[in-house]
Amino acid sequence: MINLDFTLQQKKRPPTQKEVDEGENWVVLLPTTAPARISGKFPYYETLLARRSRVSDTPSDTDCHVMDLPNEMASRVSFACINSDISSFDLLTLARKLVAAHKPAEQQVLSVHVCGFTDKQRQRFTEAMVAAAAAAAAVMPDYKTGKKSSKKFNKMQIYGIVRPDSYKRTLAEAEGNALSRYLSMLPSNYLTPGDYLKKLQVLCKENNWKLDFYDIPALRRKKAGAFLAVTQASAVKDAGIVCLRYNPSRVSRMNKLALVGKGICYDTGGVNLKPAKYMYGMHEDMQGSAVALGTFLALTRLNVNYPVECWLALATNHIGPRAYKPNDVITASDGTTIEIVHTDAEGRMVLADTLIMASDRKPSLIIDFATLTGACVYSVGTGYSGVFTNREKFIKDLIENGKACGERVWPFPMDEDYETALKSDIADIKQCALEGNADHILAARFLKRFVKNDIPWIHMDLSSSRNKGGLGHIPTDTTGFGVRYTLNLLFSGKIWKK
Ligand SMILES: [Zn+2]
Repeated sequence: MINLDFTLQQKKRPPTQKEVDEGENWVVLLPTTAPARISGKFPYYETLLARRSRVSDTPSDTDCHVMDLPNEMASRVSFACINSDISSFDLLTLARKLVAAHKPAEQQVLSVHVCGFTDKQRQRFTEAMVAAAAAAAAVMPDYKTGKKSSKKFNKMQIYGIVRPDSYKRTLAEAEGNALSRYLSMLPSNYLTPGDYLKKLQVLCKENNWKLDFYDIPALRRKKAGAFLAVTQASAVKDAGIVCLRYNPSRVSRMNKLALVGKGICYDTGGVNLKPAKYMYGMHEDMQGSAVALGTFLALTRLNVNYPVECWLALATNHIGPRAYKPNDVITASDGTTIEIVHTDAEGRMVLADTLIMASDRKPSLIIDFATLTGACVYSVGTGYSGVFTNREKFIKDLIENGKACGERVWPFPMDEDYETALKSDIADIKQCALEGNADHILAARFLKRFVKNDIPWIHMDLSSSRNKGGLGHIPTDTTGFGVRYTLNLLFSGKIWKK
């Protein structure tokens, strides 16, 4: 199930000439300033600089240079000269390009040397290289027949800095991200809600998690009409809400975290059928659940000292004679009546009952992830994700966290008056508006009413779940965006005390 095999070795000293000559693949990072005074230089240092000045009149931070060394191995070197204050997003993007310049041949080792800079800067730059190399090492679904060239770099040799924690968090994030990308890329005929549940049961055994599955009869007993409405058209009744539980061996405090994810295994749009252009790719409409799960796996790997619950709303938005329709009135499990306006706004329907169930357990913080609205993509593109919260004081930290970790988010307002667009003549609330409104904000307003007990809540509308050519350190179009962001947020101690 786990699709990442990647190990690290670290050496404080620079590589020797012999080591460089015997290595097939090298990545070197150098400072842009005062190169003459660097101690512990990379052998061939001058060769690299000569190459750089020859190919570029206006060298920039984000240029990735590639050359083969004049040795017997013709060792491939990708390198960059960077400013110490390079942004985390630029650094991760550069790291992705530096890794992509290599192909494993005989050796599956990628060697990295960061020379110059302070210890702290070297650690930061090396961390980005570890993140990018581990992201590239992850195996993704591939159904091509015939001979496959599936060789990956599964080992990284770091020179010039030793980090005592051995990049434990970066590797945990990479594993969580790899899992979420893998699941997201599975075609929907390989990942029905039933298949998804089976995979979760395997992961539970491997990781000692507890699993509760609320199937359709159980959700009927809970009167979870919002969730059930979406499942009505599915011939196979395998939809349901999963709750995974991680309990640390030693709980150091009373806080409890809840992660929630939208897991629509395929979104046809329902009766309001999507046109071909917008339906293609909708097997990834479960990426929110995969990001919640990947985050949950990473937190487990790091043995965090607080309990975590991971709620996954697994369903398929099918079309059929039993499908829910516009103008239907649906009752959620808290008794709220919802007037259906557009059946393609199914994500907020399944999340409504899931958020009610998650907040019933009174966690200290809820974070939900969903590929929820096209409006969020129109607003910020696919390089950022949208973020919403019912605690305005979090907003500054949410932005800063994105800048710090390189997975960038931008907040949106969600004042009460937005909800006038959701006023219904027949029910408590409309599911969405038909036109002329900021749907990502209306969706957040809609979800907010199902977060009970005034629990602090963060909602991520994953507009950056898919970005052509990859995003930051991630080399695939499917990004798994959110695992690194959330880990960094939880470990920063800003809104969630460590
Ligand atoms: Zn939809």
